[in-house]
Amino acid sequence: MSKVRVRFAPSPTGGLHLGGVRTVLYNYLFAKNKGGDFIVRIEDTDQTRFVDGAEQYIFDCLKWCGIEPDESPLHGGNYGPYRQSERKEQGIYQQYADQLIKEGHAYYAFDTPEELEQIRKKIPNFQYNQHYRVAFGLRNSLSLPENEVSNLIEKGTPYVIRINIPKDIIISLKDMIRGEVSFDSWQIDDKVLLKADGMPTYHLAVVVDDYLMKITHAFRGEEWLPSAPVHVLLWKYLFGLDKMPEWAHLPLILGPSGKLSKRDGAKYGFPVFAMNWFDPKTNELTEGFKEKGFLPEAFINLLALLGWNAGTEQELFTKEELIEQFSIDRVHSGGAKFDYEKAKWFNHEWIKKSGTDSYKLQAKAIFEANGITITDDAKFETILSLVADRCTLIPDFYTQAIFFFKTPETLDADAVKPKWTEEKKIFFTEWIDKLQLIGNWELVTLEDNFKELATAKNIKPGELQLPFRIMLVGGKFGPPVFVIAAAIGKEETIKRIKNALQQF
Ligand code: GLU
Repeated sequence: MSKVRVRFAPSPTGGLHLGGVRTVLYNYLFAKNKGGDFIVRIEDTDQTRFVDGAEQYIFDCLKWCGIEPDESPLHGGNYGPYRQSERKEQGIYQQYADQLIKEGHAYYAFDTPEELEQIRKKIPNFQYNQHYRVAFGLRNSLSLPENEVSNLIEKGTPYVIRINIPKDIIISLKDMIRGEVSFDSWQIDDKVLLKADGMPTYHLAVVVDDYLMKITHAFRGEEWLPSAPVHVLLWKYLFGLDKMPEWAHLPLILGPSGKLSKRDGAKYGFPVFAMNWFDPKTNELTEGFKEKGFLPEAFINLLALLGWNAGTEQELFTKEELIEQFSIDRVHSGGAKFDYEKAKWFNHEWIKKSGTDSYKLQAKAIFEANGITITDDAKFETILSLVADRCTLIPDFYTQAIFFFKTPETLDADAVKPKWTEEKKIFFTEWIDKLQLIGNWELVTLEDNFKELATAKNIKPGELQLPFRIMLVGGKFGPPVFVIAAAIGKEETIKRIKNALQQF
């Protein structure tokens, strides 16, 4: 069997949606599982939808996810160029359109956009197809006499080239996920293959490029399933069905209200794009999973499981484990529901599982954005690891660890007051004196001295730990209280106790 080659073929039109990343991921996992190549091809033939910066953004997202293409416009390769606009410049597509015309599988259509608009007004649900192409005044090389067609072409009349969908046939394809899928040709319109400016449409370009790039398997979203019969016919006419890649149309990712959309994100407060996307056309910024505080390991793990499972109880997978275990037979055909709470669970697990290297830079940036300068990186990392199992998203490191760097602004005095007594107050006053004398400021010394004084005062140490925590942290959270005291130092510990005693 020839080497497996898959492609992700995005159009650079905007942010990279969850579903898009999952398509990348399944392509990638499938290829790597089979020792194959993963190619990124930029499908930029629709110049009206082109958005500046979108291509670079796609590569940034892939890089963040740890998915490195083997071939792409940035990585090079033997089958380039990898941007369709550049391929068009090399005249790659025209010859195939001409071949289709010559063999009667395509035809010229001279109708102007205004003429088509008029027809659409007269015929509701008008489609350029076998029912209408030779009637209703449509001007094309099937409806017009041959000499008129030659005249129009000679005069330089603009035209598009459309596929000539045959009448009354069934077009079938074998989808790796859905099995056999069939379409009646009468339902399919004569899609434009080459536009008036000589630019191929997606339909022609995708088939030609999948062929020339020797793509063996193609995973794409199920929104492309209705176009699949057009592609099958083009494969049949141009290259032979035996050369056609195997298709897999991936089920939709569902949000709380049907198909997961960018608007769902805004509505329910979760990200939908991989990384922050700033749309230069609308000046709108949409938050990404990265900036929300997800780890890339968690992100690809949760996406892999949106539509696939390993058939075991295992939920946490490294990229290597996914590559090893991924199989197309375990991808389901039904829509996969995106559950943000579950997504956060994955991230929490990955924060616990990963070392501080995975998040320290992003965490440091958050501290610094909040005016805290980190001077001792080693200490910062120790603190991050102390609170890691309390963090779900990276910004949680700030709320969970800020008290290591800054005196709490407010104290949860209500948590202390109901059980606050004169004896406890005396304890803490004496505790200050004792702390002043401690030379060896270490966890064990602090803990031993605390217990000693508590015993002397006849109070259970456990009853004193909560007020001590509130004094240092401000609330009922954080790692063991002596760990905190040891980290913030003598002066700061004493200052916080004094300050709290005035408030309780
Ligand atoms: N350019 C198409 C898109 O933006 C690719 C579809 C396909 O993979 O065939 O989704």
